[in-house]
Amino acid sequence: MQVLVVEDEPKMAALIKRVLVAERHVVDIAQDGVTAVALAEGGPHDVIVLDRMLPDIDGITVLRLLRAKGIATPVLLLTALGSVDDRVAGLDAGADDYLAKPFAFSELLARIRALGRRPATPADGRLAAGDLVLDELRHVAQVGEQSVDLSAREFALLGFLIRHVGQVVTRQQILDGVWGAEPDVYSNVVDLYISYLRRKLGMLDRAGRLRTVRGVGYSLRAGD
Ligand code: CA
Repeated sequence: MQVLVVEDEPKMAALIKRVLVAERHVVDIAQDGVTAVALAEGGPHDVIVLDRMLPDIDGITVLRLLRAKGIATPVLLLTALGSVDDRVAGLDAGADDYLAKPFAFSELLARIRALGRRPATPADGRLAAGDLVLDELRHVAQVGEQSVDLSAREFALLGFLIRHVGQVVTRQQILDGVWGAEPDVYSNVVDLYISYLRRKLGMLDRAGRLRTVRGVGYSLRAGD
């Protein structure tokens, strides 16, 4: 895969590059946000690894700029350990996944592989499962002309489910994908947010799309 690594610490950047090249990825390095945006625009990259703390414009701003330009490349955000606010801000800004520093390189590689397998968000910022469309720019779910506002977490949850449409996903997979490594999160938070999301989908008359698979987890269907 073609990976863009945005990291201002030269040693860290070189280390990440070496590990990725050893796995036969092709790596571009940007050491600041402005360069990152320019390189991403010149793309195409399969995955962008983006450090949250950069010397010029911070990673979250870089991410917003990329998404505003219609660059839908999956982004793995590198955040400070334990910084829940960073991760929430990152997911809200359109990050697809995050990894807290310090991380194991094996985990970095696994997450990059997983992101590379995901279909990228279409360039217009819309993810869809059948006629149910998630509009990343307006932060709404819509069916035809009808739309409903989503909270940040409902939005992340629906995005995760749409990326796994037709599959059964377990509570743990949802926790990992939407809540990540946040401490003090219990698995019943998944059920709670599924109920919120179902209520919102009900406003679009699509609550039936989100099935409970008893004893396993949940599944979003593309059609009724
Ligand atoms: Ca940094």
